[in-house]
Parts: sequence; C-alpha cells; structure tokens
Amino acid sequence: MFKKIVFLDRDGVINVYPGNGEYILKKEELKIFPFVKDALRKLKQAGFLLYIISNQACVSKGLITSEQLLDLTSYMLNLIEDSSPLIDGVYYCVHQEEDSCPFRKPSPGLIREVLKKLGIPETEVNNHLLFFIGDSLRDIKCAQALGIRNILVLSGKENLENKPAWDTQPDYIFSNLEEAVNFILTQKTP
Ligand SMILES: [Mg+2]
Ligand SMILES: [Zn+2]
Repeated sequence: MFKKIVFLDRDGVINVYPGNGEYILKKEELKIFPFVKDALRKLKQAGFLLYIISNQACVSKGLITSEQLLDLTSYMLNLIEDSSPLIDGVYYCVHQEEDSCPFRKPSPGLIREVLKKLGIPETEVNNHLLFFIGDSLRDIKCAQALGIRNILVLSGKENLENKPAWDTQPDYIFSNLEEAVNFILTQKTP
C-alpha cells in the first residue's frame, strides 16, 4: 500500500539545538520550537506517518540513562501531541561514532527498521512519498544512503556559510521545520 512518511531528526529540528558536542539531558533543556505542533499536525492531516530518528550518544557516554531518555521522550511527546497521537515512532541510536553502530546516522539502520516494520522494501522507496528532515549533514547522508528525498533545515547545526565545505548537498534547504513542511505539502504523490 502506498505510504507517506516523514522522518524527522530531533535536536535542531523539533527542539533548539544544544550546541556541538552538547546534549539535552534535562526536561528544562528541551525547548520545542513554537511552530512544531502545527507543522506536524498538518503533515498528519495530510496522511503522513511521522518518525523521529535521533542519535543520542549521551546514553552510552553515561550522561543520562536510557530510562531518563525515555522520560525525556514522553515529556517531548506530551508537549507536541495534544489529545491525539502525532508521532508514530521515536527511534534512537545511543552509541558513539567509534562504536560503528549500523543504527547511528549517517548509517541508515534506523530508517531500515521503520521500512521493515511498514513492509516497504528498500528498493521500493521511490514508489512512496518519503522525506527526511534534519539539521545536520549526517541526516542528509542517512537519507541519501537509501535514496530518500532530504531536506536540510537551518534551525540547528548547519548554516549556509559552511556550504562550500559541505561534503554532500541536500536536495532542499529551508530555514526551519515549518517551511520544510509547507514545501512537503505542495509535493504531489507519485
Ligand atoms: Mg540534529
Ligand atoms: Zn546504535
């Protein structure tokens, strides 16, 4: 069956970017952008499934426990979902770069998990309407690894001044999630 899916990075897309090498460790540090609720609601109403795909090495570094990360996740979902569910899944890789975990972006392991769960063969991603929205080139590479259309938002890690040094180019660039979503909503289903 034809599926519409948006994969979303968390830090810098849904909430304010904590800074390079920094992590969101406490609820007080999780500042959701004001447009997130409406933007995600619009996607949901347009029939998109929404999955958050996030690297959180803070867990393997021992800065928070996996239980605290789950707590933080429920807190986040409470802030962005009203009465009805909005996010279809939140997937984390808690490992560090040197662990070479296949689930850590830029590796596409977590997207693969979602596709598997939805019964979409990797070779058929183009028969569906799929997007990845992220604020870092790792997100872009993760999407590119599976041929998924990707959108870089400038509300987090990256900025246009660094563009000449980028080792990959995103399909689209917008200033934030709200603009990215407005663009996605103009895209025709195949
Ligand atoms: Mg990010
Ligand atoms: Zn991992």
